[in-house]
Amino acid sequence: MCKTGSLKNVPAPHGLFTITWQEESCSHCLSCIRVCPAYYLPEAGFDPRKLDGALGFLLAFAGNEQIRRQASSGGAGRLLVKTALSTGMADLAYTLKKDASCPWAEGGFWQKGEDISQMPNSMYLPILVMKNLVLKQRLKSLLIVGTPCQLLAAEALVGKKVDRLYKVAIYCKQQKDFRATKYCAKRLNIPILKGHAEDIHNVSYRGDGWPGKVTVNQSSLAWEQAAGVPFGKRLWRVPGCRFCPDAFGFNVDLTLLDPWGIRQENALGETLVVVWTRQGQELLQNASGELQIENLTPEEGLKAINIGDMLQKAALVNYYLGRSVSLRTWLAGRGEEIQGSFYETILEYLNLPTLGHKLIAHAPDLRNMFLHGLRSHIGRKSTSP
Ligand SMILES: Cc1cc2nc3c(=O)[nH]c(=O)nc-3n(C[C@H](O)[C@H](O)[C@H](O)COP(=O)(O)OP(=O)(O)OC[C@H]3O[C@@H](n4cnc5c(N)ncnc54)[C@H](O)[C@@H]3O)c2cc1C
Repeated sequence: MCKTGSLKNVPAPHGLFTITWQEESCSHCLSCIRVCPAYYLPEAGFDPRKLDGALGFLLAFAGNEQIRRQASSGGAGRLLVKTALSTGMADLAYTLKKDASCPWAEGGFWQKGEDISQMPNSMYLPILVMKNLVLKQRLKSLLIVGTPCQLLAAEALVGKKVDRLYKVAIYCKQQKDFRATKYCAKRLNIPILKGHAEDIHNVSYRGDGWPGKVTVNQSSLAWEQAAGVPFGKRLWRVPGCRFCPDAFGFNVDLTLLDPWGIRQENALGETLVVVWTRQGQELLQNASGELQIENLTPEEGLKAINIGDMLQKAALVNYYLGRSVSLRTWLAGRGEEIQGSFYETILEYLNLPTLGHKLIAHAPDLRNMFLHGLRSHIGRKSTSP
């Protein structure tokens, strides 16, 4: 957004960017602030009653078995893009495209007829996804698939240049920095120069069944082994994720996620879809030739989602912003920080046996212990956090 070039991003070894600001050349136009999700996210909050407003919950999966196997869950993300373009419902789509070098994907426009096998499944490392979202002329319709923060930024960037914007959110509670990938590489005995990515040539984080495998170079690790510690213990999170209260997205048409609470590991995945708007219903209807759809009751939909975890996350937003919070929230936040730094340090510097990883994965979680009461809201409708 910066027209005077006063903002620069300098990449850091763990995949994040340090943003530098040159005040002398800055025109103070505030464009950067207007598109930055970090300014809206903390105030947005999360109210589980939002789920009462969902138009429906369903499971969707690709009729084509190969597509279903390649995808993160059931392949709804890629097939919504494919069918919206092939039927002319969207003139263009914007989401990730695979790339040969680190971080192995970048944001890009998709047109009718493009090969959707070039769309990566879930990428758990930082990518400047919206970097290439530049519209030179007005569009009738555009479909964007991305995480909630990316969709906020995308709408602020191009919303006024598009007559009809379809927003499909990839449910996201946490994005990882590159150290989570190095953790997987280490578990696969792939040597990594400290702080550098040169020894990793290729990464895929999901696919090959559900919840699938993490593949680094040619070696693979079952998702549970790869993700149990980094995701379960919320390690190596992108800092902005601490301020995001709502993994479903804000004013989106559909949210796509994994049906964790209602499905066991299996060879062929399914995507849990939360439908929020009529536009979302139209997108799904339009994809029904390629996507198999199974309706769920609201009770089944809620069972599939871990609302307790979202409430606990949302409860710590004010702690991380340094605002005044109750003693219980402060203890939960401090506990999460101390426990997280401790695990990150030992996992980075020690070579633990498999048992060590298992012990960490099952160790008591201080955040959850202090915020335990919030779990009582799971599945109870019309209760505020
Ligand atoms: C960082 C992250 C965290 C997630 N956390 C959870 C979670 O806690 N619980 C849960 O149930 N589900 C989570 N998901 C969603 C889940 O992994 C699947 O993406 C979702 O179920 C859709 O699967 P699919 O097979 O329908 O999508 P696919 O057909 O595989 O399509 C995936 C789509 O996601 C886009 N995409 C992939 N990675 C990114 C990225 N980093 N940024 C923007 N777009 C991306 C691709 O471009 C593509 O359009 C997360 C996804 C991501 C990327």
